[in-house]
Amino acid sequence: MKAVLIEKDEQGYRAALQELEPSFLQGGDVVVDVAYSTLNYKDALAITGKGPVVRQFPLIPGIDLVGTVVESDSEKFKAGDKVLLNGFGVGEQYHGGLAQRACVKSDWLIHLPPQITPFQAMAIGTAGYTAMLCIIALEKQGITPDSGKILVTGANGGVGSFAISLLAKLGYHVVASTGRVSEADYLIQLGAKDVIDRNTLSEPGRPLGKSLWAGAIDSVGSHTLANVCAQMEYGGSVAACGLAQGMDFPATVAPFILRGVNLLGIDSVMRPIPDREAAWQKLAKLIDDTMLKDIATTISLSQVVEVSNDLLAGRVQGRVVVDLAL
Ligand code: NAP
Repeated sequence: MKAVLIEKDEQGYRAALQELEPSFLQGGDVVVDVAYSTLNYKDALAITGKGPVVRQFPLIPGIDLVGTVVESDSEKFKAGDKVLLNGFGVGEQYHGGLAQRACVKSDWLIHLPPQITPFQAMAIGTAGYTAMLCIIALEKQGITPDSGKILVTGANGGVGSFAISLLAKLGYHVVASTGRVSEADYLIQLGAKDVIDRNTLSEPGRPLGKSLWAGAIDSVGSHTLANVCAQMEYGGSVAACGLAQGMDFPATVAPFILRGVNLLGIDSVMRPIPDREAAWQKLAKLIDDTMLKDIATTISLSQVVEVSNDLLAGRVQGRVVVDLAL
Protein backbone atom coordinates (compact mmCIF):
# COMPACT_ATOMS: atom_id res chain seq x y z
CA MET A 1 0.00 0.00 0.00
CA LYS A 2 1.12 3.58 -0.66
CA ALA A 3 1.39 5.88 2.34
CA VAL A 4 3.03 9.09 3.45
CA LEU A 5 5.41 8.21 6.26
CA ILE A 6 6.95 10.62 8.77
CA GLU A 7 10.25 9.53 10.26
CA LYS A 8 12.54 11.11 12.82
CA ASP A 9 15.99 9.74 13.59
CA GLU A 10 19.67 10.69 13.37
CA GLN A 11 19.07 11.67 9.71
CA GLY A 12 16.51 14.24 10.83
CA TYR A 13 12.75 14.80 10.48
CA ARG A 14 11.28 13.89 7.10
CA ALA A 15 8.06 12.89 5.37
CA ALA A 16 7.89 11.03 2.06
CA LEU A 17 5.64 8.80 -0.03
CA GLN A 18 6.52 5.13 0.58
CA GLU A 19 5.35 1.64 -0.30
CA LEU A 20 4.50 -0.23 2.92
CA GLU A 21 3.28 -3.73 3.78
CA PRO A 22 -0.29 -3.74 5.16
CA SER A 23 1.15 -5.57 8.24
CA PHE A 24 2.75 -2.22 9.13
CA LEU A 25 -0.72 -1.26 10.41
CA GLN A 26 -1.65 -2.72 13.78
CA GLY A 27 -3.72 -2.17 16.86
CA GLY A 28 -7.18 -1.52 15.44
CA ASP A 29 -10.21 -3.81 15.14
CA VAL A 30 -11.39 -2.41 11.78
CA VAL A 31 -9.45 -2.32 8.50
CA VAL A 32 -10.56 0.39 6.09
CA ASP A 33 -9.84 0.76 2.40
CA VAL A 34 -9.26 4.53 2.42
CA ALA A 35 -10.94 6.40 -0.45
CA TYR A 36 -10.07 9.98 0.53
CA SER A 37 -8.17 11.81 3.22
CA THR A 38 -7.45 15.52 3.65
CA LEU A 39 -4.77 18.04 4.53
CA ASN A 40 -5.60 20.11 7.58
CA TYR A 41 -3.43 22.75 9.26
CA LYS A 42 -2.48 20.11 11.85
CA ASP A 43 -1.48 17.61 9.13
CA ALA A 44 0.72 20.23 7.49
CA LEU A 45 2.42 20.91 10.85
CA ALA A 46 2.98 17.16 11.30
CA ILE A 47 4.29 16.60 7.77
CA THR A 48 6.69 19.56 7.75
CA GLY A 49 7.73 19.07 11.39
CA LYS A 50 6.91 22.73 12.05
CA GLY A 51 4.71 21.89 15.03
CA PRO A 52 4.92 19.19 17.72
CA VAL A 53 1.97 17.17 16.43
CA VAL A 54 3.47 13.69 15.98
CA ARG A 55 3.78 11.72 19.18
CA GLN A 56 5.19 8.47 17.80
CA PHE A 57 7.64 7.72 14.95
CA PRO A 58 7.45 6.42 12.29
CA LEU A 59 3.89 7.61 11.69
CA ILE A 60 1.41 7.83 8.85
CA PRO A 61 -0.19 11.29 9.13
CA GLY A 62 -3.77 12.23 8.26
CA ILE A 63 -6.33 13.17 10.93
CA ASP A 64 -9.30 12.53 8.60
CA LEU A 65 -10.27 9.54 6.52
CA VAL A 66 -13.25 8.05 4.75
CA GLY A 67 -13.49 4.65 3.14
CA THR A 68 -14.99 1.19 3.07
CA VAL A 69 -14.58 -1.45 5.77
CA VAL A 70 -12.73 -4.52 4.49
CA GLU A 71 -12.32 -6.42 7.76
CA SER A 72 -13.97 -5.91 11.12
CA ASP A 73 -13.82 -7.54 14.55
CA SER A 74 -16.42 -5.08 15.79
CA GLU A 75 -20.16 -5.70 15.94
CA LYS A 76 -20.79 -2.06 15.01
CA PHE A 77 -19.21 -2.29 11.54
CA LYS A 78 -19.18 -4.94 8.82
CA ALA A 79 -17.28 -5.35 5.55
CA GLY A 80 -18.71 -2.99 2.93
CA ASP A 81 -19.80 -0.27 5.39
CA LYS A 82 -18.81 3.29 4.50
CA VAL A 83 -17.11 4.86 7.51
CA LEU A 84 -15.69 8.20 8.55
CA LEU A 85 -13.02 9.17 11.07
CA ASN A 86 -11.96 12.61 12.35
CA GLY A 87 -9.28 12.96 15.02
CA PHE A 88 -9.12 10.76 18.16
CA GLY A 89 -5.30 11.03 17.92
CA VAL A 90 -5.21 9.42 14.49
CA GLY A 91 -2.43 11.08 12.46
CA GLU A 92 -0.80 12.20 15.74
CA GLN A 93 -0.36 9.12 17.92
CA TYR A 94 -1.87 6.43 15.69
CA HIS A 95 -1.41 5.82 11.95
CA GLY A 96 -3.75 8.04 9.97
CA GLY A 97 -5.56 8.51 6.70
CA LEU A 98 -2.77 9.46 4.28
CA ALA A 99 -2.45 5.82 3.16
CA GLN A 100 -4.46 3.46 1.00
CA ARG A 101 -5.31 1.33 4.06
CA ALA A 102 -6.00 2.14 7.71
CA CYS A 103 -6.40 -0.13 10.74
CA VAL A 104 -8.31 1.77 13.41
CA LYS A 105 -10.41 1.32 16.54
CA SER A 106 -14.13 0.93 15.95
CA ASP A 107 -14.71 3.38 18.85
CA TRP A 108 -13.30 6.16 16.64
CA LEU A 109 -15.49 5.50 13.59
CA ILE A 110 -18.92 6.71 12.61
CA HIS A 111 -21.07 5.51 9.74
CA LEU A 112 -20.94 7.89 6.79
CA PRO A 113 -24.39 9.54 6.59
CA PRO A 114 -26.04 8.23 3.39
CA GLN A 115 -26.67 11.76 2.07
CA ILE A 116 -22.92 12.48 1.99
CA THR A 117 -20.53 10.97 -0.58
CA PRO A 118 -17.00 9.93 0.47
CA PHE A 119 -15.53 12.86 -1.50
CA GLN A 120 -17.93 15.31 0.12
CA ALA A 121 -17.07 13.94 3.57
CA MET A 122 -13.41 14.76 3.07
CA ALA A 123 -14.10 18.09 1.40
CA ILE A 124 -15.83 18.85 4.70
CA GLY A 125 -13.25 17.01 6.87
CA THR A 126 -12.21 18.10 10.34
CA ALA A 127 -12.43 21.74 9.22
CA GLY A 128 -16.12 21.57 8.24
CA TYR A 129 -17.01 19.33 11.16
CA THR A 130 -15.30 21.76 13.55
CA ALA A 131 -17.06 24.73 11.94
CA MET A 132 -20.34 22.89 12.55
CA LEU A 133 -19.42 22.17 16.20
CA CYS A 134 -18.79 25.93 16.57
CA ILE A 135 -22.18 26.78 15.05
CA ILE A 136 -23.97 24.25 17.28
CA ALA A 137 -22.18 25.76 20.31
CA LEU A 138 -23.32 29.30 19.35
CA GLU A 139 -26.88 28.09 18.77
CA LYS A 140 -26.90 26.40 22.20
CA GLN A 141 -26.26 29.89 23.61
CA GLY A 142 -29.48 31.02 21.93
CA ILE A 143 -27.94 32.76 18.93
CA THR A 144 -30.20 32.89 15.87
CA PRO A 145 -29.99 34.80 12.55
CA ASP A 146 -31.97 37.59 14.25
CA SER A 147 -29.36 38.04 16.98
CA GLY A 148 -27.01 40.17 14.87
CA LYS A 149 -23.77 39.85 12.92
CA ILE A 150 -21.48 36.84 13.23
CA LEU A 151 -17.75 37.38 12.76
CA VAL A 152 -15.59 34.61 11.26
CA THR A 153 -11.80 34.98 11.57
CA GLY A 154 -9.23 33.06 9.50
CA ALA A 155 -11.87 33.37 6.79
CA ASN A 156 -9.89 31.94 3.86
CA GLY A 157 -8.85 28.87 5.84
CA GLY A 158 -10.64 25.53 6.00
CA VAL A 159 -12.59 26.16 9.20
CA GLY A 160 -13.25 29.77 8.22
CA SER A 161 -14.51 28.95 4.72
CA PHE A 162 -16.92 26.35 6.07
CA ALA A 163 -18.07 28.54 8.92
CA ILE A 164 -18.97 31.26 6.41
CA SER A 165 -20.80 28.91 4.01
CA LEU A 166 -22.74 27.07 6.71
CA LEU A 167 -23.71 30.21 8.63
CA ALA A 168 -24.82 31.91 5.41
CA LYS A 169 -26.91 28.88 4.47
CA LEU A 170 -28.54 29.01 7.90
CA GLY A 171 -29.49 32.65 7.24
CA TYR A 172 -26.88 34.49 9.35
CA HIS A 173 -25.30 37.84 8.46
CA VAL A 174 -21.64 36.84 8.26
CA VAL A 175 -18.65 39.19 8.40
CA ALA A 176 -15.34 37.63 7.30
CA SER A 177 -11.97 38.71 8.71
CA THR A 178 -8.99 37.91 6.48
CA GLY A 179 -5.40 38.82 5.74
CA ARG A 180 -6.19 38.24 2.06
CA VAL A 181 -8.62 41.05 1.36
CA SER A 182 -7.78 40.55 -2.33
CA GLU A 183 -9.75 37.27 -2.02
CA ALA A 184 -12.87 39.11 -0.89
CA ASP A 185 -14.81 37.86 -3.96
CA TYR A 186 -14.27 34.24 -2.85
CA LEU A 187 -15.53 35.06 0.65
CA ILE A 188 -18.56 36.93 -0.69
CA GLN A 189 -19.29 33.99 -2.99
CA LEU A 190 -19.21 31.70 0.07
CA GLY A 191 -21.84 33.88 1.70
CA ALA A 192 -20.03 36.64 3.63
CA LYS A 193 -21.91 39.96 3.58
CA ASP A 194 -18.84 42.04 4.51
CA VAL A 195 -15.10 41.45 4.58
CA ILE A 196 -12.70 43.15 7.01
CA ASP A 197 -8.89 43.21 7.13
CA ARG A 198 -7.50 40.96 9.87
CA ASN A 199 -4.98 43.71 10.73
CA THR A 200 -7.83 45.46 12.51
CA LEU A 201 -7.87 42.54 14.98
CA SER A 202 -4.35 41.11 15.10
CA GLU A 203 -2.52 43.80 17.11
CA PRO A 204 -2.83 44.43 20.88
CA GLY A 205 -6.12 46.26 21.50
CA ARG A 206 -8.25 47.80 24.26
CA PRO A 207 -9.97 45.70 26.95
CA LEU A 208 -13.37 46.71 25.53
CA GLY A 209 -14.20 48.04 22.08
CA LYS A 210 -17.35 48.94 20.15
CA SER A 211 -20.04 46.25 20.43
CA LEU A 212 -20.12 44.78 16.93
CA TRP A 213 -20.82 41.05 16.98
CA ALA A 214 -23.59 38.85 18.37
CA GLY A 215 -21.44 35.80 17.79
CA ALA A 216 -18.02 34.88 16.49
CA ILE A 217 -16.10 31.83 15.28
CA ASP A 218 -12.39 32.25 15.82
CA SER A 219 -9.73 29.91 14.41
CA VAL A 220 -6.88 32.36 15.01
CA GLY A 221 -6.39 32.81 18.79
CA SER A 222 -3.85 35.27 20.28
CA HIS A 223 -4.56 39.04 19.98
CA THR A 224 -7.28 38.33 17.41
CA LEU A 225 -9.32 36.31 19.90
CA ALA A 226 -8.71 38.91 22.62
CA ASN A 227 -9.93 41.72 20.32
CA VAL A 228 -12.91 39.68 19.15
CA CYS A 229 -13.98 39.18 22.78
CA ALA A 230 -13.58 42.94 23.36
CA GLN A 231 -15.87 43.70 20.39
CA MET A 232 -18.75 41.39 21.35
CA GLU A 233 -22.23 42.72 22.01
CA TYR A 234 -23.70 42.29 25.50
CA GLY A 235 -24.20 38.54 26.15
CA GLY A 236 -22.54 37.57 22.86
CA SER A 237 -20.73 34.27 22.38
CA VAL A 238 -17.37 33.41 20.82
CA ALA A 239 -16.56 29.87 19.73
CA ALA A 240 -12.76 29.53 19.93
CA CYS A 241 -11.28 26.61 18.02
CA GLY A 242 -7.86 27.55 16.66
CA LEU A 243 -4.46 29.13 17.03
CA ALA A 244 -3.37 30.18 13.53
CA GLN A 245 -1.99 33.45 14.95
CA GLY A 246 -0.80 31.97 18.24
CA MET A 247 -1.63 29.87 21.25
CA ASP A 248 -1.52 32.86 23.61
CA PHE A 249 -4.63 34.69 24.75
CA PRO A 250 -3.55 38.19 25.82
CA ALA A 251 -6.99 39.36 26.98
CA THR A 252 -8.57 40.97 30.06
CA VAL A 253 -11.65 39.74 31.88
CA ALA A 254 -13.53 42.96 30.94
CA PRO A 255 -15.67 41.40 28.16
CA PHE A 256 -16.71 38.55 30.47
CA ILE A 257 -17.53 40.54 33.62
CA LEU A 258 -18.84 43.74 32.02
CA ARG A 259 -20.66 42.39 28.97
CA GLY A 260 -21.39 38.81 29.99
CA VAL A 261 -19.55 37.51 26.94
CA ASN A 262 -19.33 33.72 26.66
CA LEU A 263 -16.11 32.13 25.48
CA LEU A 264 -16.89 28.64 24.20
CA GLY A 265 -14.01 26.20 23.81
CA ILE A 266 -14.36 23.87 20.83
CA ASP A 267 -12.44 20.59 20.60
CA SER A 268 -13.12 18.27 17.70
CA VAL A 269 -10.46 15.63 18.41
CA MET A 270 -11.82 13.85 21.50
CA ARG A 271 -15.43 14.87 20.93
CA PRO A 272 -17.83 12.08 22.01
CA ILE A 273 -19.50 10.08 19.23
CA PRO A 274 -23.09 11.43 19.77
CA ASP A 275 -21.86 15.02 19.22
CA ARG A 276 -20.00 13.94 16.08
CA GLU A 277 -23.08 12.19 14.72
CA ALA A 278 -25.22 15.26 15.44
CA ALA A 279 -22.73 17.56 13.68
CA TRP A 280 -22.47 15.28 10.63
CA GLN A 281 -26.26 14.91 10.43
CA LYS A 282 -26.58 18.69 10.38
CA LEU A 283 -23.82 18.93 7.77
CA ALA A 284 -25.63 16.35 5.63
CA LYS A 285 -28.68 18.62 5.52
CA LEU A 286 -26.76 21.78 4.62
CA ILE A 287 -23.98 20.72 2.28
CA ASP A 288 -24.37 20.90 -1.46
CA ASP A 289 -21.99 20.34 -4.35
CA THR A 290 -21.85 24.01 -5.32
CA MET A 291 -20.58 24.88 -1.83
CA LEU A 292 -17.97 22.12 -1.91
CA LYS A 293 -16.84 22.87 -5.47
CA ASP A 294 -15.90 26.40 -4.38
CA ILE A 295 -14.09 25.20 -1.26
CA ALA A 296 -12.29 21.95 -2.20
CA THR A 297 -9.16 21.23 -4.28
CA THR A 298 -8.15 17.60 -4.98
CA ILE A 299 -4.54 16.36 -4.89
CA SER A 300 -2.79 12.97 -4.99
CA LEU A 301 -0.75 11.35 -2.21
CA SER A 302 2.44 12.30 -4.07
CA GLN A 303 1.59 16.02 -3.77
CA VAL A 304 0.95 15.95 -0.03
CA VAL A 305 4.40 17.08 1.18
CA GLU A 306 4.63 20.00 -1.27
CA VAL A 307 1.08 21.20 -0.58
CA SER A 308 1.72 21.01 3.20
CA ASN A 309 4.42 23.67 2.78
CA ASP A 310 2.05 25.81 0.69
CA LEU A 311 -0.67 25.47 3.33
CA LEU A 312 1.56 26.69 6.15
CA ALA A 313 2.77 29.55 3.93
CA GLY A 314 -0.85 30.71 3.56
CA ARG A 315 -0.95 29.89 -0.18
CA VAL A 316 -3.87 27.44 0.06
CA GLN A 317 -7.49 28.49 -0.01
CA GLY A 318 -10.30 26.38 1.45
CA ARG A 319 -9.92 22.62 1.75
CA VAL A 320 -7.49 20.10 0.28
CA VAL A 321 -8.88 16.61 -0.44
CA VAL A 322 -6.40 13.77 -1.00
CA ASP A 323 -7.69 11.14 -3.46
CA LEU A 324 -6.02 7.81 -2.64
CA ALA A 325 -6.88 6.42 -6.09
CA LEU A 326 -4.83 9.07 -7.96
P1 NAP B 1 -5.99 26.90 7.60
O1 NAP B 1 -6.77 26.35 6.46
O2 NAP B 1 -4.51 27.00 7.50
O3 NAP B 1 -6.58 28.35 7.95
C1 NAP B 1 -6.03 29.20 8.89
C2 NAP B 1 -6.38 30.63 8.48
O4 NAP B 1 -6.02 31.49 9.55
C3 NAP B 1 -5.56 31.10 7.28
O5 NAP B 1 -6.15 30.76 6.06
C4 NAP B 1 -5.56 32.61 7.52
O6 NAP B 1 -6.78 33.13 7.03
C5 NAP B 1 -5.57 32.74 9.04
N1 NAP B 1 -4.22 33.00 9.57
C6 NAP B 1 -3.09 32.31 9.32
N2 NAP B 1 -2.05 32.84 9.98
C7 NAP B 1 -2.54 33.91 10.65
C8 NAP B 1 -1.95 34.89 11.50
N3 NAP B 1 -0.64 34.89 11.79
N4 NAP B 1 -2.74 35.85 12.01
C9 NAP B 1 -4.06 35.88 11.74
N5 NAP B 1 -4.67 34.99 10.93
C10 NAP B 1 -3.92 34.02 10.40
O7 NAP B 1 -6.30 26.07 8.92
P2 NAP B 1 -7.69 25.37 9.38
O8 NAP B 1 -7.63 23.93 9.05
O9 NAP B 1 -8.83 26.20 8.96
O10 NAP B 1 -7.51 25.48 10.96
C11 NAP B 1 -7.54 26.76 11.57
C12 NAP B 1 -7.11 26.65 13.03
O11 NAP B 1 -8.08 25.89 13.74
C13 NAP B 1 -5.77 25.98 13.24
O12 NAP B 1 -5.12 26.58 14.31
C14 NAP B 1 -6.17 24.55 13.60
O13 NAP B 1 -5.18 23.90 14.36
C15 NAP B 1 -7.43 24.81 14.40
N6 NAP B 1 -8.37 23.69 14.42
C16 NAP B 1 -8.80 23.27 15.64
C17 NAP B 1 -9.73 22.28 15.73
C18 NAP B 1 -10.24 21.89 17.08
O14 NAP B 1 -10.64 20.76 17.28
N7 NAP B 1 -10.27 22.82 18.01
C19 NAP B 1 -10.18 21.64 14.58
C20 NAP B 1 -9.74 22.09 13.34
C21 NAP B 1 -8.82 23.13 13.27
P3 NAP B 1 -6.82 34.48 6.14
O15 NAP B 1 -5.79 34.31 5.07
O16 NAP B 1 -8.22 34.55 5.66
O17 NAP B 1 -6.44 35.58 7.10
